[in-house]
Amino acid sequence: MTAILNPATEETIAEIAPASAEETDAAVARAKKAFPAWRAVAPGDRARLLRRLATLVEEHGEELARLESRNVGKPISGARGEVGMVAQVFHYYAGAVDKHFGETIPVAGGIDLTLREPLGVVGLIVPWNFPLNISSWKLGPALACGNTVVLKPAELTPLTALRLGELALEAGIPEGVVNILPGKGSVVGTRLVEHPDVAKIGFTGSTEVGQEVMRGAAGTIKRVTLELGGKSANVVFADADLEKAAAAAPYAVFDNAGQDCCARSRILVEASAYDRFAELLVEATRGVEVGDPEDDSTEMGPLVSAAHRETVASFVDGDPFFRGDAPDGKGFWYPATLVEARPEDRIARDEVFGPVAALIPFADEAEAIRIANDSDYGLSGSIWTENGGRALRVARAIDTGVLSINSNSSVRVSTPFGGFKRSGFGRELGMHGLAGYSELKNVYYATED
Ligand code: NAD
Repeated sequence: MTAILNPATEETIAEIAPASAEETDAAVARAKKAFPAWRAVAPGDRARLLRRLATLVEEHGEELARLESRNVGKPISGARGEVGMVAQVFHYYAGAVDKHFGETIPVAGGIDLTLREPLGVVGLIVPWNFPLNISSWKLGPALACGNTVVLKPAELTPLTALRLGELALEAGIPEGVVNILPGKGSVVGTRLVEHPDVAKIGFTGSTEVGQEVMRGAAGTIKRVTLELGGKSANVVFADADLEKAAAAAPYAVFDNAGQDCCARSRILVEASAYDRFAELLVEATRGVEVGDPEDDSTEMGPLVSAAHRETVASFVDGDPFFRGDAPDGKGFWYPATLVEARPEDRIARDEVFGPVAALIPFADEAEAIRIANDSDYGLSGSIWTENGGRALRVARAIDTGVLSINSNSSVRVSTPFGGFKRSGFGRELGMHGLAGYSELKNVYYATED
């Protein structure tokens, strides 16, 4: 059995039996058996089942948010927002079931049409930072397209995904369509990746494991969507509303205690505004409420585990530019930390995945773009300026999948989300998310006698 801890108290909140390779095979077999009937469900009926699941998530919202908060150590207010998004995702994909159209294409001698077919059994592998949210981003489109699924939550955080599996049954989704299988990446994960009856892997996690998934998928030419790490830039020009940018910047990196693939952990500031912005940023960071995740006013909780705290701490040498407060005693706490850095420093290049931000000055627009793009990653980012032309010019020039202007917002139910470069490929959410869970078939019908 594996003990599941509350990262804020180090107490065991559950014990889980991790699945074996044989149990993984059995889950895949169940999903394979359930596929023909599930793909044949009329679109309107499949939509109704997804909508019922969305409603059940809403009805159990507080329970799911409390469970997520205790298992991940995330503040309850954030967990409530995430569960709200989970319900929205299922509502959205319920609505998308009968709007995922094919085309007719003008050809000689007949009629040509395209069809969107489900893939079959899909393996969904999710990380520990947004366990329920990221599960829904994959389950919603996978089910909407008519696939059956085996979903593997992360070792540390399986509880809400397991509860979601129960709710899927309660919603009336037939047995075998949704299989939730907690277990190790090296056992359940690799088995799903290599399994000949799994048609696709939807993976969210680190770039290193993403590389293993790609290698493992090659054996069966499995489709993969990879949502991987990030090291995103928050680019602040001197002509920005500095107060607004500085007030927002801490939440772009310290939300979820920095355990966020979209964290804008490189704060690039135009040199002429650097001192003023740094002063405002320190003031705003001091205001981040750190403490008991179950308290409604808490904005930052602990890190997910002791081992992860050690990794985060290894990035910070000596005295940082600013270090906030964190509770003493039990719990995997780490304070909000600001470090002054050069673009070539490790802290400015590697994903920390903790509440540590690197402050980097730049001389002009060209240098800002150069530094922002000087990264193996390309997931998200922000641009702060009052000059609209510059905002769009810089947005075009930065190599990243998701960008926001005068905002930290990266994720919306209806808009595509995913990375450039080593942040992965494929898109989740919105109608683009459906492309990753269907095959395009072309049918030509000869009409000439
Ligand atoms: P991780 O890569 O260690 O694990 C992710 C999942 O993969 C877990 O379920 C794990 O058990 C499984 N896994 C591990 N080894 C495997 C293997 N060999 N084969 C198949 N599956 C395997 O990532 P993590 O530590 O859980 O999450 C943090 C990482 O996730 C960060 O790098 C973060 O940036 C990334 N992330 C990306 C996004 C995004 O949308 N781009 C979102 C959230 C997190």
